[in-house]
Amino acid sequence: MREPYIVGIDLGATQLRFIAAKSKTGEIRKSGPEDKGKYFFPSPFKKMGEGFLIDNLLKKIPLHERTSVYLYEKLNIFLKKSALKKSQVKAIGISVPGRILPGNKFMGANTPFTYATKDRYGNYGIDVMGTIKREFKEIKIALDNDCNCAGLAQGLYYKSLGIDPHTTFYITISTGIGGGGPRRDLDEVGHIPVDGGFPGLIPRCGCGAYGCLEAYASGEGILNQALNILRLYREDKRMFKQFETYESMRLNKPLHLSEKILVSHLEREYSRGRQLSTKLIFRKAALDKEKTGFDPFARYLVETAAVRTAKIIVAISYIHGLERIGIGGSVALENPRYVELISAEVNRIFWKTPHILQREVKVELSPLGYYVNDYGALSLVLDHKDIDQWVATMKKLANTKNETFMTFGHKEI
Ligand SMILES: [Zn+2]
Repeated sequence: MREPYIVGIDLGATQLRFIAAKSKTGEIRKSGPEDKGKYFFPSPFKKMGEGFLIDNLLKKIPLHERTSVYLYEKLNIFLKKSALKKSQVKAIGISVPGRILPGNKFMGANTPFTYATKDRYGNYGIDVMGTIKREFKEIKIALDNDCNCAGLAQGLYYKSLGIDPHTTFYITISTGIGGGGPRRDLDEVGHIPVDGGFPGLIPRCGCGAYGCLEAYASGEGILNQALNILRLYREDKRMFKQFETYESMRLNKPLHLSEKILVSHLEREYSRGRQLSTKLIFRKAALDKEKTGFDPFARYLVETAAVRTAKIIVAISYIHGLERIGIGGSVALENPRYVELISAEVNRIFWKTPHILQREVKVELSPLGYYVNDYGALSLVLDHKDIDQWVATMKKLANTKNETFMTFGHKEI
């Protein structure tokens, strides 16, 4: 008999990724020596001009069925490319960037309403697994929020270390911010509103609201904060002065922000009309150099984002009884010192003064590293009796850098 496999499908905002792993051990399927075992296609929700890629796909299919048909078509191509027979697929796990609704539908902050249907409670949801379910009748198919999936995989790892997975949580810091865990009771952590923003500079989030954590402290959020402050610095001196005073009061120490900007490399680049990036901000913040060699404005931006993130982490740990938080996502994985900064701030808040909820909360880089997302969708449907084998495989991989993650998949088919 042919070896059975589990297929993981990760539907993201820009990519639709497929991975297959041996159902007994979790080893990732490779069909040849050059194959990294993972395939990606453009996401149907990839932004294209004013609309989405899906606007131009499968035009003969009714709008609300297009997503699920697209996923099924790409799944078939993936199976063919991986030399897998349909009969070898034992289970399929699907992760999506949004909230799961009744009837296996979902809705995310960046998903188009046009492709959704409305249920009797007025919720709009997009069907992603209808076609796959019809075509793969006998097998287990499950759907969950992408961060809950990653949190589930990470929780298996923590469990093997003797930590109750229900006290663990996963947070991703990349273009956006999300979170999830084995309890699946909290996913939109990036859209918690944070206070303490200067009234003239409260950023609007992709979800439409103002002042979400994501709008301040995600990769894109940090960059936008930098651009907005620099714009104010150059174009509205009076308001910038107010902002500077406001920030000094908020931090309860003289901040001298204009002096920081005056010597800032970021400001020089900005004034020359060059493009700034999150990468540049982190490089200039030089978190691994303690005293010298850093751009003080870049350091201020990164530290402010870390403090805002830490406060939300403390808040959710109080409410959900969390004790171990693993952080992943490109910003965290490429800047481990940033995670240490957040961790130090979380500890500072917990131990500053004695209080009733005081306890050890550990914040660290996700122990699954670059593989946490790969195993997310897969771990939704894996057999409980195989967990030890899977964890052993994940541990082996976790210490290696997953290049396919870095380049967002190795081939588009
Ligand atoms: Zn938001």
